[in-house]
Amino acid sequence: MTDMLSLDRPARPATRPAALQEMPSLIGLTREEMGKALAEVGVAERQVKMRVSQLWHWLYVRGVSDFDHMTNVSKDMRETLKRHFTIARPEVVEEQISTDGTRKWLLRFPARGAGRPVEIETVYIPEEGRGTLCISSQVGCTLTCSFCHTGTQKLVRNLTAEEILAQLLLARDRLGDFPDRDTPPGTIAPAEGRKVSNVVMMGMGEPLYNFESVKTALLIATDGDGLSLSKRRVTLSTSGIVPEIYRTGEEIGVMLAISLHAVRDDLRDMLVPINKKYPLKDLMDACRAYPGLSNARRITFEYVMLEGVNDSLEDAKELVKLLKGVPAKINLIPFNPWPGTNYQCSQWDQIEKFADFINAAGYASPIRTPRGRDILAACGQLKSESERMRKVDRMAFEAMMIANHGADD
Ligand code: SF4
Repeated sequence: MTDMLSLDRPARPATRPAALQEMPSLIGLTREEMGKALAEVGVAERQVKMRVSQLWHWLYVRGVSDFDHMTNVSKDMRETLKRHFTIARPEVVEEQISTDGTRKWLLRFPARGAGRPVEIETVYIPEEGRGTLCISSQVGCTLTCSFCHTGTQKLVRNLTAEEILAQLLLARDRLGDFPDRDTPPGTIAPAEGRKVSNVVMMGMGEPLYNFESVKTALLIATDGDGLSLSKRRVTLSTSGIVPEIYRTGEEIGVMLAISLHAVRDDLRDMLVPINKKYPLKDLMDACRAYPGLSNARRITFEYVMLEGVNDSLEDAKELVKLLKGVPAKINLIPFNPWPGTNYQCSQWDQIEKFADFINAAGYASPIRTPRGRDILAACGQLKSESERMRKVDRMAFEAMMIANHGADD
C-alpha cells in the first residue's frame, strides 16, 4: 500500500526561468499572430511564412521546448528567437500517479501583468489503447454549481491560449508522446498509438466563459499540420452558456458535453445556478441546433448521481423526455464527496436502476468508474484539495486516504 501515492519530480526541467517570465511565448499564437510577432522582431517579410511553418512543425509535431533543438533553423535565427520569445513549458509543481495509472499535474504559470503566478491542475486518464487528458480553462470558476468543489473557489483569472495548450504539450512530454529528438526534421507524428488520444475541456472552470482563448487553443490542437487531434476526439464540456454553445458548433466544431445534472428547472437552478439565466428549454434548443449531430456524433450529458436529490426513476423518465430528438449519450457520475458538502453519492443499486431505465429507452448510459480517487483527480475535486494538502501534514493525509481506500475494498 505504500505505493498508493507516488510523487515524482519532473524528469526534464520544465521551469521557466524568472528572466523568461516576461517574454512572450510563441505557443498559443495563431499562424497569423506568429507571423506578425516574427515580423516585429525583424524577420524579413519574404521569410515570415516559411519561418512560421518551420516553428509550427517544431512546436507542435516535434514538441520542442528549446530553440536550440530546431536543427534546420539557422543559428542566427535561433539567437533572434531566443532574445525575444520563450517556448518553455510551465513549472511542474507536482506530479502524482494513482494506483490506477491516472496522473495529475499541478502546474504553475508565471504572473501576468500585475497579477501573481497561478496554479492549475491537469489530469490524464489512461485506458485500454487510448488516453484522455482533462484540461482546465480557468483558475477557479465564477459559477457555483453546488455539488462541485472547484465552484467554491473564486475565479482568479482566465487561462490564456498558451496556458491551455501548454497543458497538452506538457502531458505529451511527460508521457513520451512526441517523436525522439533524433527523428529527422519534417517527420509527421503518427495519429495512432498516441497516449493522449482524446482531450476533454472538463477541468477547472467554465470554458465558454473564456471562449476566445479556448477557441484558439483547440483550433491549434486540432490543426492537421501540428498536434493533429481529431475534432471528434476533443470534447468541450459546458454548464450551459447557451449563446456560446452556438458559437462552439460554428467556430470550433468539437464534440459537446453538457453538465446537466437535473431535469427540472427548479432543481437545476439549485445544482447548476447558471440555469436561472439559461433554463433547460433554451439549453435543449441550443443542443438540438448543434451542427453535425448524428448517431455517430452525439452530445454527452453529464449527470452526477446525488442520493435523494436527482436519482429517482421519475427523474430518469423526465430525462428521457427531455432528450427526445437529440442524439445523446448520458454519463452517470457517482458523486465524489468533498469536505463540507451536504450531498451524498446515490446507492449503487439506485444508480444501476437509473442507468437501466435510460438504457432501455435507447440511450447509452455508462456509469463512470471513479478514476484517480487516491490523488483527488476526480470531477470537481481539482485544485482546492491540492492547496489544502500543502497546509496539512501530507503523510497523515496519505495514511487517511490509504485507510479509506482499504475500507472501500
Ligand atoms: S461544475 Fe464546472 S462550471 Fe460548475 S462550478 Fe464546477 S468548474 Fe465551475
